[in-house]
Amino acid sequence: MFPLVPAPIKFERKEGFFKFLKDDSGAIKYDYVRDDSLPPEGYELRARDSKLVMRSCDEAGRFYGEVTLGVMDALTGGTPGEFYISDAPAFGYRGYMLDVARYFFDVDTVLRHIDYMALLKLNVLHLHLTDDQGWRVEIKKYPRLTAVGAFRSRTHVRLYRHGGYYTREQLKQIVAYAHSKHIKVVPEIDFPGHFSAAIAAYPELGCYGEGVKVARNFGVKYDVACVGKDTTLSFMKDVLEELFDIFTDEYYHLGGDEVMYERWKLCPECLELKRRLGFNQWSEVQAWALNELSAFLNEHGKKAIIWNESKITGKADKNLVWQYWQGGLDEKKLAEEINSGRQVIMSPCEPYYLDLPYSINGVRAMEKYKLIPEGTKVDAVDNILGAEFPLWTELVPNARQADKMLFPRLAVGAEIAWRGCCDENVGDRAKSYAPLFIRLGAIVGEKAGAEKKGIAYVLDRIWWERRQLYWGAIGNLIGNMKVRRAAKRKFRQQNQR
Ligand SMILES: [Zn+2]
Repeated sequence: MFPLVPAPIKFERKEGFFKFLKDDSGAIKYDYVRDDSLPPEGYELRARDSKLVMRSCDEAGRFYGEVTLGVMDALTGGTPGEFYISDAPAFGYRGYMLDVARYFFDVDTVLRHIDYMALLKLNVLHLHLTDDQGWRVEIKKYPRLTAVGAFRSRTHVRLYRHGGYYTREQLKQIVAYAHSKHIKVVPEIDFPGHFSAAIAAYPELGCYGEGVKVARNFGVKYDVACVGKDTTLSFMKDVLEELFDIFTDEYYHLGGDEVMYERWKLCPECLELKRRLGFNQWSEVQAWALNELSAFLNEHGKKAIIWNESKITGKADKNLVWQYWQGGLDEKKLAEEINSGRQVIMSPCEPYYLDLPYSINGVRAMEKYKLIPEGTKVDAVDNILGAEFPLWTELVPNARQADKMLFPRLAVGAEIAWRGCCDENVGDRAKSYAPLFIRLGAIVGEKAGAEKKGIAYVLDRIWWERRQLYWGAIGNLIGNMKVRRAAKRKFRQQNQR
């Protein structure tokens, strides 16, 4: 099998000799025919009798046809022999997420990752721009978000100060570059949890925000946005509004996951909101805040995505797209949700998260996982928009480590998203892309993608699971006790007045 990734839907190699011809700029020459009978993003290539003809119905298809030609040229030295390819993606959403909040990656690195994506026909770059550990996007109305929120005194794995952020111009540059390669960009502003960096910059955004710092360790933090104050939702709307002329594509990600209710339970404003809305559970308040912002995005012609969570199932509006990451929701329930009309992006942490060790999320595990959950009805399959492969960076402090985690798994993911499944030998084909990645500037070692077995696997697993200590986490619990005490004191004083 010719080592293309993703493998084309149909690929026939013929007997005859064929050599690519190139123009003065080095581009492969071909005759182009626009063919509206072909599917979106699809293309057809026919190399026969010294003639190369490409067909597609759109510019994206033509772009992917050219990508395929470039790879064939590189892997065959320009003489692929006569061939016929007919190809089109199974899914319109083929995503890769880069977490720039935990570690900041400079513009050049982001542009290089866009090159990786284009090579693999991925078409959505999801930028995780804000979290407890950093705020990475310049907002003119709230300068402290980056002046304060973009820096932390140390990180989980390094003992020195770390930070950085993108200016509006830099983000526009990233989006323009992505668009030139038929890649859409989804910005994520995580809310109301994973919000400490914003609270560190503007304490009034939290219920008891004084003293909150940009988080140094990872883990789920107790300080979340105070949704009881009107000003908090106004803040979020202001932020989103400033992003509209940078991120011009349809989807906006609101995060929405892992919200701790500890502060809300103590906060007079949040308690009053819950009472006023007549809610019994805090999860209803969480869903309400997300629904409000989703409606705001809809008014501006955008659609909201959130990380799915079982506790807000049935409470979050139907038009919120779920990014499925197995937050306590089994696949049977997920299938029911899909069958009832919910649109979903598949990103199960096992096996699609690219920051997990290869021993856990190896090529084989990715290959075996079924993208379409059991129980999904045939006529509801269209509600699965596609798949996304996230690289969280708490343990990925630099571009070199990122490359190690991405290669070859990003290629395997790209095949899953393009075909809906993996073809045989996807791991070997992905590894044959090493020279192409290196040509784009990636640092790819010989051991790339090595999985461990036996005792080495067990040790890898233990090494990885040690992070649970922090998700739990001792530091969080102590911090929480301190805030609880201060909050109760403040609450008491307010009541006495
Ligand atoms: Zn509050």
